[in-house]
Amino acid sequence: MGIGNNGYIHDLMKSYCHYSILSLAPMPGNVSLIVDKLRTKYDPTIALHYTTPFELVIAVSLSAQCTDKKVNEVTQQFFPVLHGDPRALADMPIEAIEGYIRQTGFYRAKARNLQRMARALLEQFNGVVPDSMEKLIMLAGVARKSGNVILGELFNKSEGVVVDTHVKRITQRLRIVPLEQIGGKQKVYYEPNKLDYIRDASPEKIERELMRIVPKRLWNEFPHLLVKLGRDACIAQRPHCAVCILQPLCPVKRAV
Ligand code: SF4
Repeated sequence: MGIGNNGYIHDLMKSYCHYSILSLAPMPGNVSLIVDKLRTKYDPTIALHYTTPFELVIAVSLSAQCTDKKVNEVTQQFFPVLHGDPRALADMPIEAIEGYIRQTGFYRAKARNLQRMARALLEQFNGVVPDSMEKLIMLAGVARKSGNVILGELFNKSEGVVVDTHVKRITQRLRIVPLEQIGGKQKVYYEPNKLDYIRDASPEKIERELMRIVPKRLWNEFPHLLVKLGRDACIAQRPHCAVCILQPLCPVKRAV
């Protein structure tokens, strides 16, 4: 980070004062400082386990509506039978795929998508995971959000900021995104008259704000760090503010 802890907090609080008193525009510098601080505690890489691009596409597809921890448990059993070969998945009986991935939820739809994805990889891309959003979203089960994860992880390309449930909640708590710009009506209060976050805020609007506020060089790393903070300390209900590395500078920290 290049500056001591006291200097860091001083700089950040100065930025927050500027943000809250002089300007409503969140400052990109705040984000860089937050990322620097999070890096001292968390690994800024993806939590999903994989060893090949093909395995990453499978893991990302399975992670819809499922925790990364559960996906990793499932793929630990599933990947060895595929041997990294899209042909093995393309030819596997659908019931067998369902059996392997059942615990990730929505397993019937996911199994069908995985098989269609493997067949498309073979037929349209010679078995190689493509390196553009335009081509990735042609694969069954890969939407723009998954495409962003894959592009960032495999090709170090950034076409957006991935907004999952943790990023959605924590970017609001830290007031990185302006709450008046992100839609939603379900306001969650942590004390009477003290707004915590907006539960049904729009992920698309949050992503648009983050693409404006977060420096592009951090678009891949930033969500990975927030996901890890969200699992470790900044959980949805009763966050563990006393042990949170961002506690000294969080506008909605609980009394400790
Ligand atoms: S201080 Fe509490 S609310 Fe703020 S980021 Fe940390 S855990 Fe979340």
